[in-house]
Formats: sequence, structure tokens, C-alpha cells
Amino acid sequence: MAVRRATKIVATLGPASSDPALLEQMIRAGVNVVRLNFSHGTADDHVNRASLVREAATRAGREVAIMADLQGPKIRVGKFADGKVHLESGTKFVLDASRAEPGDHQGVGLDYKELPRDVKAGDVLLLNDGLIVLTVDSVKGEQVRTTVKQGGELSNNKGINKMGGGLTAPALTAKDMEDIRTAMSFRADYVAVSFPKNATDMEMARQLCNVAGAELRHRPGLIAKIERAEAIPNLESILKASDGIMVARGDLAVEVGNAAVPALQKRMIRMARECDKVVITATQMMESMIMNPVPTRAEVSDVANAVLDGTDAVMLSAETATGRYPLETIVEMANICLEAEKAEEVKLDADFSGKTFARIDHSIAMGALFTAYHLGCKAIVALTDSGSTALWMSRHRIHIPMYALTPKLATQRRMALFRNVRPLLLDQSADRDTALGEAEAHLKKRGIVGSGDIYAITCGEPMGAPGGTNMLKIVRAT
Ligand code: PGA
Ligand code: MN
Repeated sequence: MAVRRATKIVATLGPASSDPALLEQMIRAGVNVVRLNFSHGTADDHVNRASLVREAATRAGREVAIMADLQGPKIRVGKFADGKVHLESGTKFVLDASRAEPGDHQGVGLDYKELPRDVKAGDVLLLNDGLIVLTVDSVKGEQVRTTVKQGGELSNNKGINKMGGGLTAPALTAKDMEDIRTAMSFRADYVAVSFPKNATDMEMARQLCNVAGAELRHRPGLIAKIERAEAIPNLESILKASDGIMVARGDLAVEVGNAAVPALQKRMIRMARECDKVVITATQMMESMIMNPVPTRAEVSDVANAVLDGTDAVMLSAETATGRYPLETIVEMANICLEAEKAEEVKLDADFSGKTFARIDHSIAMGALFTAYHLGCKAIVALTDSGSTALWMSRHRIHIPMYALTPKLATQRRMALFRNVRPLLLDQSADRDTALGEAEAHLKKRGIVGSGDIYAITCGEPMGAPGGTNMLKIVRAT
């Protein structure tokens, strides 16, 4: 029987992975979602990269989602005359919002002009993901004067975070709004919003996406990157306003402290699943593979633990964007996921006890899970228009593979991120019996069911109405 991995892999596209043949190999090796990082490159670059991804996915014969990751109000230092400086501990360094000329070892310009209003004496600023630490001595006009507590090399456009959070920048910048239009022009399946503070930021992003996508009738899924201290108390309302979240451990760790992140990751994954939303675990998962052909033991454990926490997807950033071993990283990561999944406990009964359902389609989805589990079905199939039934079923831990058949390409791609869901495209014009026959043919072709095996299938009568799932059928394959 074909080996099936439930956990999905998000890989960031970059110079190291932009060769069409290599990208195709990476998709064949297990990439389910390609992340386009809008912090780098022009609109044209992203449009070209998106078609590169669509073409490679077609050649590989796989359904791949594209996630446009907006830059957001990431505070970055400007450029340096020599590209970088080495900051010595104990020296003074000035972050100057009014500085136009390139930086040197005494100070540098800022793209975020509000920083002098957002900080005060005594605040701690972390640069380059916390590798460099500055304490604020005073704020004079546009200048933030600091002392270097922890020195190191600082190069062009590195990020700045304030320990404990509290920067006032709105989540969506003018550049993000422009980038949303670009992303909608190539029908990005997901848009990731950087640094949202609350549900309003996500609602705003949703409106912008819907307006920009109106012409092509495209509505992307929205992912809230949880990377600000202020987002934590608002997690539940952010989840409700989004289609999923990203545990963005890079910036989050700097704002809340490294040690708080593992417990937050577990809580975020649990909450996302309880709210019927998807969750991506991101940043430094296979960091050492940027340079080395094998991961560290700690990285193997980190990926495996995210899988056991119940994440939908694990994400690669520089590992695949600029690293030396993009393909090897995918192969390693896919293996770790597969192995960890074997150790995952099925806890389905507890999920149902004392529950009532408000919707017919939801209730059918849960009925399918319950029946398939207790009857020992080989697969669960959902004929779905919007993808909701597949999403609901995939929020529960069960070792039975799920196949989601949809006539909509956008739904198929969006489901590429759902844990334990294999999205397949169904013929547009199929009536119900033809669709059911097609579903069984898919399962047989993949070796999932043999003749005599039973599987569960959900569908709606009449077909093609979103939210119309009202039937559960248990089939013995012929
Ligand atoms: P970034 O987001 O890579 O866009 O900064 C992820 C993170 O902060 O972990
Ligand atoms: Mn970030």
C-alpha cells in the first residue's frame, strides 16, 4: 500500500529552489504548500514565481497551494555603507528614523518611522532575531539612542523587535495592500498576515483580499501569523476571524521570550483545532540543514513534536529559500513526519462525548468519523464543494486516510494544507452515482481499498450545494 503522510509541508520559495526541475522534485518529495515571501522581491518576481509553482505542480501531478506571506510592519534597520557592521558590546548605537545616508558603526536609518514614538528609556530592542540586544538610553526627536548590550554582526535590513511587544504599527502597510492585489492576480490560495494584533486586523485583510479578488471571483484562505505578544490574549477572536494561524516562532520568541514558545505552540495548535481552523508551525524547524545535509537530533525532535501536538503543517523558511540542501530537507522532514504520525494516539471517543451539533453537514461529518473508526473502514471520502466537511473531519485524530473530492480547483488547492486530507479533483459535470464511482476508482487506483474492503463516504443530495452534505454511505468495494 502507498505510504501516506498526514502532516503537510510548507516550503518557502527562494533562489535555492527556483529552478523548475528542482522545484518539481521538491513537490514530488512532499511539498504541499509553497510560501512566497513578500518581504523579498518585486510584484513581477512573485507573479513569475507563482506560475513557476503552478507549472511544477502540474508536471508533478500534485495539488499544491500557494501561500502569499505579506511582509507586514516588520521593523527593519536600513542599509549600511559596507553592507554590514560589527557592533561591540558596551558601545553606543543610534537608530535614526530621519537618517537618509547609509549606516555605520554609530547608527543606522529605519524604515519604520514610528519607532521613536513607540519606545522609551529602559526598553530592550532585539535585532536580527535576538542575536543583538540594545537597551534604549533615551529618545531625542527622531533618534533612539541605545547602548549595545550584546554585540554582533548587523547587516542590511535586519529586523528589530521590542521585548514584551507594544509597537503601535498597524498590521497592514501600504505595501501589504499592494501585495494583496498582486497575490489575488495569481489566485494565491492563502494569504498570511504578519503581526496581526487582533481580529480587526484579520477582518481588514479579509476585506482587502475580497475586493482585490472580486474580479476573478477568488477568495483566499487567511492565515494569522501569531508573532506579537498582544496577539496571545486575542487568540480566540483572531482564530474566529481567520481560516488558520501560523505559530511564527521567530518573531514570537523575541517578543515573549524563547522559553515561553513551546507551551504557546501547544496551546495554539490545540485551540486552532478546537475552533475548526488550520495551523502551521514555523521557523527554524530544520535550521541546520541550511548548511548541512542532515538535521540535528534536536530538530528531528522539534518536527516530530509539532506533529504530535497536532499541527496541520510544518514550515521551512531559509532551509528551502536559500539553503544548500532544499531537496534533502524535504525528504528528511517528510520522513520525520511519517514516523511521528505512527506514534500518534487516536482519541476519538472523547471528542464526541457530551457534544451536540448545530448543523446537518457537521453532524454527518462527525458521524462518518465515528462509524469509520468503530467499523474499521479503510478510508473516508468526502464529496465536498467548499471543503468544510473535510476540514471538520481532519480536526480529529484518526489513522484512517481521508480523501476529499471536489469539482472546484480552488477548494482542492486550499485543502492541500489540511492534515490527513488528500484533495482530489472531481469531474465538474458528474452526477452523484458517477461521482461515487469515481471516488471508488480513485481509492482502488491508489491501493487504499481492495475488493471487499469497506470505506465511508459523505455527500449531499442534490450535489453541488455548498453546505449541503446530508448523507453518509458505507460501501463495500467491489
Ligand atoms: P517571518 O515569519 O519569517 O516572515 O518573519 C515567521 C516567524 O516570525 O517565525
Ligand atoms: Mn515573523
